[in-house]
Amino acid sequence: MPCYRCGARQTDPVRGASPWKRGVRHEAQVLVCPDCQRAPDLDLDACATCTSTTLICRLGEVECRACGLVRLAQASSPGTPDLSALSAEVEAALNRVLGRK
Ligand SMILES: [Zn+2]
Ligand SMILES: [Zn+2]
Repeated sequence: MPCYRCGARQTDPVRGASPWKRGVRHEAQVLVCPDCQRAPDLDLDACATCTSTTLICRLGEVECRACGLVRLAQASSPGTPDLSALSAEVEAALNRVLGRK
């Protein structure tokens, strides 16, 4: 994953902690390169409790690495399937298989 801000690609992983920073921006996981971490206009989502921007986004949840707070990502999160549309599709398929009208 490249830096969300400048598009730089992470070079060979060095042993130990990566200088790249993980964050969440608009409900999506992003990486920030060491240069851009110093930018004053970093537009990362911050934890509502401790204002840390060290967040990770996974499976519709955003977790704060600093205080452990977990909140649901907003519904507009890309890649989240629309479950109601999905279940309607499954029901229609079942109806076809079972010969229901
Ligand atoms: Zn960058
Ligand atoms: Zn926090």
